[in-house]
Amino acid sequence: MTTDASSVSSPTARSEALFARARAVTPGGVNSPVRAFRSVGGTPRFIAHADGAYLTDADGTTYLDYIGSWGPMILGHNHPGVREAITQALQGGTSFGAPGEREVQLAEQVTRLTGTERVRFVNSGTEATMSALRLARGATGRKFIVKFRGNYHGHADGLLVEAGSGLLTNADSLGNAAPSSAGVPEDYARLTLVSEYNDPAALDALMAARGHEIAAVIFEPVVGNAGVLMPTPEFLAALHRVKASGALLIADEVMTGFRLSLRGATGLLGLEPDLICWGKIIGGGLPVGAYGGRADVMDFVSPQGPVYQAGTLSGNPLAMAAGLATLQALEADPGLYARLDAYTAALAGGLREAAREAGVAISINHIGSMLTAFFQDAPDGSLRTYTDAARSDTAAFARWFQGLLARGVYWAPSQFESIFVSGMHSDAELGLTLDAAQAAFAEVGGA
Ligand SMILES: *Cc1c(COP(=O)(O)O)cnc(C)c1O
Repeated sequence: MTTDASSVSSPTARSEALFARARAVTPGGVNSPVRAFRSVGGTPRFIAHADGAYLTDADGTTYLDYIGSWGPMILGHNHPGVREAITQALQGGTSFGAPGEREVQLAEQVTRLTGTERVRFVNSGTEATMSALRLARGATGRKFIVKFRGNYHGHADGLLVEAGSGLLTNADSLGNAAPSSAGVPEDYARLTLVSEYNDPAALDALMAARGHEIAAVIFEPVVGNAGVLMPTPEFLAALHRVKASGALLIADEVMTGFRLSLRGATGLLGLEPDLICWGKIIGGGLPVGAYGGRADVMDFVSPQGPVYQAGTLSGNPLAMAAGLATLQALEADPGLYARLDAYTAALAGGLREAAREAGVAISINHIGSMLTAFFQDAPDGSLRTYTDAARSDTAAFARWFQGLLARGVYWAPSQFESIFVSGMHSDAELGLTLDAAQAAFAEVGGA
């Protein structure tokens, strides 16, 4: 190979060409920002197909996948049962704009698994949280909501305030904060109060001052969108105290639902939220979101109640088939969650060891099949807030990411994200990952 390698001889030539075409017709060349590799640099790989634990890009290079489409693919890609269910649904037409049996089946499955009474399907996690908040405002007659710094709940206006991976500005003691996106009016952001994750005293103080005005407190029960951050038992207790003021407690389980257990983080951590939001796994790789909870709250939703919420493609038969097949496969494999845990724990142990040998400081947070290796010197499991996570050395992370990618391991292309292990990751994948990680840490340590 010549040093002035033309794009023709580059192993990413096709991705580069596609990225150039994409940039000409789509802002930044991608349909969701993190895919552009801005925080790690280099060419985003354009994926041609995926199978099991692996992605294959447009240049024909295969990568071990730790993104899992950012959460949905817990069974791995191209799962035969899910593929078969979609294929079968496809024979009967793709959208009706009228109810069908699959929506009933998936709603029965979700309510049974999650201990909720009513569920409404939408098309994304963003729609789920946005709709749940409208419902909370409609049900309580109040207008303020509370969210936590560094938590991400999708891109609805009122939720782009101190959002995960957004700007680090400071909320004042009454929870007032600035929007983290252009185009979100201050007037709108004013209705979103922000408190610090894992700070029970701050939440108690905010609720004491303004609890009577607050419709809902929304939270990630385990944070994935600032990297993985675990809640403390004291914080979870403070969250449950907000109900005493008449505010609804909304668990955003878009990432953790059906991932941390069949009952999500709610089941694993023993939470009792008023409403739960889902997305990602609930659609098995097709666009589905949902929100649900007690009948007395959910029945405020139209046409039963006065809170309007609708969707042309909501309950789409292909999407319902994929979600149903995914949840059925999860339920039919009771050992799956223990296997995911074991793999992820072994991954954490191997990364810890490899980083130590290379003299690279990392701090690992992991739970179930979610894991983040923060590039900073802190005891494992000690990072608890966005401010903690933000102390990480993102340049070192980016070098390590590139080292993994060059060796065929596709890690999440941002320090402030979780990776996702699937049921198709087994011993061979663990070995491949740890070999690549060891070499990549050596490059970071030697730089
Ligand atoms: C991904 C995510 C969302 C947004 O879901 P989309 O389907 O991307 O709109 C909301 N909340 C959490 C916790 C998420 O991880």
